[in-house]
Formats: sequence, structure tokens, C-alpha cells
Amino acid sequence: MRARGAAVTVALLAALAGCSGDPDAGPASPTGPSTPNSSSASGPATTPTPSPEPTADPSPVRPARFAVDRALRHVEALAGRIGPRLATSPAFRDAAAYVGGELTRQGYAVRRQRFPVPAGDSWGVPVAAGRSFNVVAEPPGFDPTRPYLLVGAHLDTVAVAPGAEDNASGVSVLLELARLASRDGTRLPVVLVAFGAEEPRGPGDDLHHFGSQHLVRELTGPERRNLRAMVSLDRVGVGGLVPVCTGGLSSGRVRDRLLRTARAEGIAAAGCSDNRSSDHWSFEKAGFDVARLGSTPYAAYHSADDRPDVLQPEQLARTGRLVWAWLRTRPTG
Ligand SMILES: [Zn+2]
Repeated sequence: MRARGAAVTVALLAALAGCSGDPDAGPASPTGPSTPNSSSASGPATTPTPSPEPTADPSPVRPARFAVDRALRHVEALAGRIGPRLATSPAFRDAAAYVGGELTRQGYAVRRQRFPVPAGDSWGVPVAAGRSFNVVAEPPGFDPTRPYLLVGAHLDTVAVAPGAEDNASGVSVLLELARLASRDGTRLPVVLVAFGAEEPRGPGDDLHHFGSQHLVRELTGPERRNLRAMVSLDRVGVGGLVPVCTGGLSSGRVRDRLLRTARAEGIAAAGCSDNRSSDHWSFEKAGFDVARLGSTPYAAYHSADDRPDVLQPEQLARTGRLVWAWLRTRPTG
């Protein structure tokens, strides 16, 4: 019954969002996996009934906040315990099992989307052809005929790197956002993706971003029409401000909204429009509005030194807080 009530509410709110002048606006109401039944703002489904006993604490439930310690535990699991996660390796499958398990626990419908990866060169190491996959997590009742958002982070690494910053950092933020969204909901439904095979296997535009290119190719008509924004979290735990970029093809609408959100939240951020080196580029080439968060240069890049201690927890927190505010806040301008 509760699930049905929540679904009706979501559908109603989604219908209202369809009338909005702003295609990315959406309702500032729960649309996450486990919509709490305590919200008094969710309309006709929550007609108050007399309580048999007076409530001790009438204050509302505290809003969820990005917890950097939780994110750091994910970094430790992926980059500390599992280590290098070449997209076609058993370690990648271990990492995917970890991520899939976390997302399933948060109430998402999780599936694997498989694709072939060619032989090539992984940052100086010859690697064989194989198969990799994306871990795709949809909130329960996800309806691609309604507007939605997609947030992704690549799970693979180059052959030698444990990939704490590149990109356990992005995946850790993704998993913490999954927890927050399942608790408090978001203004539009959010599909979360841990991409396989982002890292290059050679030069040029075709020999990298295999997972995101595959996902874009496989989008159904409704999925394509209703995707309002794609955000890639890639190297988001090093630096003193959050880079928020596009590759220069799209309108910049998503980037600019993120930058406005950062200003409103007091989070240090800086925009650019020449970043084509993450999964957002696959979506941007296909005509979607995108942004990539992260990319501050660091010494341990693509090396065996990319271990959890390279991360700066404050930067992870800046990124997480920014994306969470963007997912929650109905835009006004
Ligand atoms: Zn990366």
C-alpha cells in the first residue's frame, strides 16, 4: 500500500513537473527509492490521522547531509582493499559486486550492462581484449517516460593504479549520494551509473569511455528524450575548489546551474568548457546537457601511488555537498 501511494505521488509530481517552463526543474519532493512516509508535504496521500499518543518531538526529521567518513570507507574498500581495477579484470568484477551490493541495499534496481573492450595499451601496459560492464541503478518504479537525471562515475582504473582519486573518489560520492537520495529523495528521479572501461586503451576519441559510449548507444527513445542532465564525477577528491566543466559542445546549462548552486551553498568551484576526458563527453557528443566535476592535476595520477592517502577529505565533501544540493534544489533562475 505504501509503495503504491508513493508511486501515485511520484507520478503526480512528475506530471506537474511536465507542466513546468523549466525542463530541468522538477518537484522539490521525494522521488528517491524509499520515499519516507513521514513527509507532510507530499500532498493528498498523507491526510493526517489523529495520533493515539502525543508526539514527544514535533520537529521535522533532520535533512540528510553528505557524510565524508562514509565516502572515505568506500574509497578504502575500492582502492585500499581491492586495488587496481582494469575494466576486464576479476578485480573490476569484485569492485562491481561491492558497488552493486551497496546500491541494492539502498533500494535501487541494479543491473549490469555488458559490452566488449578491445585489446590495447593501458597507460603503458599492453592489455588483452575482454568484456566489461556498467553497473546501472534505477530508483524503484523508475519511469523513463518522465524527466530524470543521470549521475555517473567510472569504476575502472588503468592497469597499475589502485585508483583512489581516479576514480574511487567519484564512485564513493556516487554511493553516498545513493544513500542520501534513498533517504530524502531528489527533485527528479536519478539514475546512478558506475561505468566500466572509461580509461583509454589507445589514443583518440574512440579508444576510451567504452562504457558510457555503450550506454548512450543503448538508450531507448523515451530514455533519450527524458534525460535532462548527465553529470560525471571523475577525480573529485583532490584540490581546493571543484572544477565544473563541459567539453564545449553543449549549452552549459547544467554546468552553470551547478556553479550557481555552489555559490548559493558557499562551495568553492570554477567552471570551464574544454574538458573532454571523462564519461560526460560520450553524452555531450550525443547532444545531452552535461557537466563533469573534478580533474585537479595531482602527482600520483595513473600510477601505483594513487592510494587513499592522496585524497583530501574536504574536497570530497565539497563535491558531495554540491551535487547533493543540485539534486535537491528546485532551480529558480
Ligand atoms: Zn578517471
